[in-house]
Amino acid sequence: MSVDTRILVAGTGPVGLISALAFAKAGFSVVLAGPPARTDDGRTTALMVPALKFLATLGMLDSLEPDAAPLKVMRIIDGTSRLIRSPMVTFRAGEIGEEHFGLNFQNRVFNAVLEKAVEAHSGIEWRRAMVDNWTLEPGKVIATLSDGTLVEAPLAVAADGRNSQARQAAGISASAQSLPQAALVLNFVHSRDHAFTSTEFHTETGPFTQVPLPGRRSSLVWVLRPETAKEFASVGDDALSQRVEQQMQSMLGRVTIEGGRQIYPLSTSLPLRFAQNRIALVGEAAHVFPPIGAQGLNLGIRDVDQLVETAAKHRDDSGAPEALAAYDAARRPDIVARTSAVNLLNRSLLSDMLPAQLARSAGLNVLGVFSPLRAFFMREGLRPGSGFSSAVAGLRSPRRGGDAATD
Ligand SMILES: Cc1cc2nc3c(=O)[nH]c(=O)nc-3n(C[C@H](O)[C@H](O)[C@H](O)COP(=O)(O)OP(=O)(O)OC[C@H]3O[C@@H](n4cnc5c(N)ncnc54)[C@H](O)[C@@H]3O)c2cc1C
Repeated sequence: MSVDTRILVAGTGPVGLISALAFAKAGFSVVLAGPPARTDDGRTTALMVPALKFLATLGMLDSLEPDAAPLKVMRIIDGTSRLIRSPMVTFRAGEIGEEHFGLNFQNRVFNAVLEKAVEAHSGIEWRRAMVDNWTLEPGKVIATLSDGTLVEAPLAVAADGRNSQARQAAGISASAQSLPQAALVLNFVHSRDHAFTSTEFHTETGPFTQVPLPGRRSSLVWVLRPETAKEFASVGDDALSQRVEQQMQSMLGRVTIEGGRQIYPLSTSLPLRFAQNRIALVGEAAHVFPPIGAQGLNLGIRDVDQLVETAAKHRDDSGAPEALAAYDAARRPDIVARTSAVNLLNRSLLSDMLPAQLARSAGLNVLGVFSPLRAFFMREGLRPGSGFSSAVAGLRSPRRGGDAATD
């Protein structure tokens, strides 16, 4: 059997499902290829305001909000025992006139909501099969699915994750590296209110990040050496609850971990190009880095937003070389900047070298004491480019700043 479509999306993680919905909303016919959405993902995802606005345009937000917790305050605490330690830095959404930075969802809920929306959309044909083989032909790409179907499209969206076969088929190489780190992921109940505050402790093995969930519950991403993550995943509930509470200096009172611990090995990957040969990369096919500062899926949603916009501008042939070149150019600065910043911060945590520690400490110190710079980073975190425009506006009409927020 052979199917013709305007857009083929390969991969049914969150980015693939969102891509299918966004292209269908923009009026393109879509074939989506990939297995049913994951129901066993124990992680939570913090999505920032711009990503939420994009989901709202797809009609997704109302179903997600009831099970999500707002992030009003984000703190970074140096939890290392190194000679040079940084002061605590606190970012408050109120400081830049926002009610919150974003919302924290459980991935299980998120995936189920996305899956239901895709199934309900008449413009999307979801074939629950893997892409087994890619063929590039002039003017089109052909995917052979594991159910035997051939799907032909002028543009394929590679949303097939970090080991993207579609990326390989496009002839795009990526510099990938596995890291000596793994994330232990779990949710826990605590006796004190979190006040919608997320705290990221920087440790010698990576960040330990608590993110609020509704009620007196939070999620945890604890980046450890792989062998320690394995060891912690197998100790009893009481012992691990105590360790988590200790690591947080009892900030949220008594901790009781919930069932369902998971381990995610960490790696980095950055392709040389973000589109080529009628295949455009989005999500983890286009960028992989450690979970620091809730960046990954936020970046993936910006990929989708840009790709749909570019495809709509080149509606006659959305996979044409000039359309793909425009997408590549538009996404490159954001992806390269985020990937480099996260990798640099991660390396500075792991490094015993004094210069790396000094640089990290000095950076956080300046952020803590200089409110315009903090506001710049908060705006950049929410909307890339907007920190720059606010800074320029601030230069045109200077106001006095510089209060201390180093708690
Ligand atoms: C511990 C942890 C915490 C995180 N927390 C956050 C956070 O708070 N905020 C944030 O923004 N990001 C966060 N991230 C990053 C975020 O999880 C990723 O960016 C996101 O999951 C990437 O989604 P994806 O759809 O690109 O890839 P994936 O979820 O890996 O999906 C890829 C899909 O492709 C399918 N596939 C593979 N090969 C084929 C094929 N040949 N044919 C068809 N389908 C195929 C797979 O089955 C899968 O469905 C976190 C990451 C980790 C590890």
